[in-house]
Amino acid sequence: MTNIIFLGPPGSGKGTQASMVSKELNVPTISTGEVLRKQVEMESEIGKTAKSYMNSGGLVPDAVVVDIIKNRIFEDDCQNGFILDGFPRNMNQAVVLDSMLSSFNKKIDIVFNFEINDEILIKRIAGRYSCKKCGLVYNSYFKLPKKEGICDNCKSTQFENREDDNEHTVKNRLKVYHNSTVELIEYYKKKNLLCSIEAIESVPLVFDRLIEVVQNFSKY
Ligand code: AMP
Repeated sequence: MTNIIFLGPPGSGKGTQASMVSKELNVPTISTGEVLRKQVEMESEIGKTAKSYMNSGGLVPDAVVVDIIKNRIFEDDCQNGFILDGFPRNMNQAVVLDSMLSSFNKKIDIVFNFEINDEILIKRIAGRYSCKKCGLVYNSYFKLPKKEGICDNCKSTQFENREDDNEHTVKNRLKVYHNSTVELIEYYKKKNLLCSIEAIESVPLVFDRLIEVVQNFSKY
């Protein structure tokens, strides 16, 4: 059983890697950002609370995200491990997570820290958009569809982008990320759980590295 955290700024590719590693290891990914976006779409109470924080690029209050995690990590499909994508985002969340896990005799095993320079991130995120029909992700700087305006995968001509993926919000999200995760990185470093990942590398290379680390960990 391996419980993993993916720590990294928005646009570092951790979402993509989380879903690939999830499949490979057959464990679920729990993405607080994903859950919150669904709640916003459903216009639930949680969604209504979260929306303004998300749109400005700030953090949603700890109580809201902690509740999401608390209900999710003890479900049956997490028995063989899980990947946390986007949680914890600050020290308080990390401490609450540790105490929740230890009360069930569980712990975090590896914390991957996706490292990448901010300028590349701004282009990666502000340029990000996806096909409305199949969800395939494109980028106006790095990855356009082969035929302009037509999805490579499903040929749809409709695209969309996340409300918080604009340059202004991205800059704020990065600032918030750096401010709140400095301590977090130190915290996991001291616990000897931190593993740095060069997130600028290609998707398959990053993936191989992640799997190698997990497999080495599982051997012992
Ligand atoms: P993400 O998809 O991880 O980039 O998250 C999108 C947005 O959801 C963030 O900018 C925050 O507003 C909110 N969010 C996601 N995870 C958390 C968390 N652990 N704590 C607080 N806010 C979060």
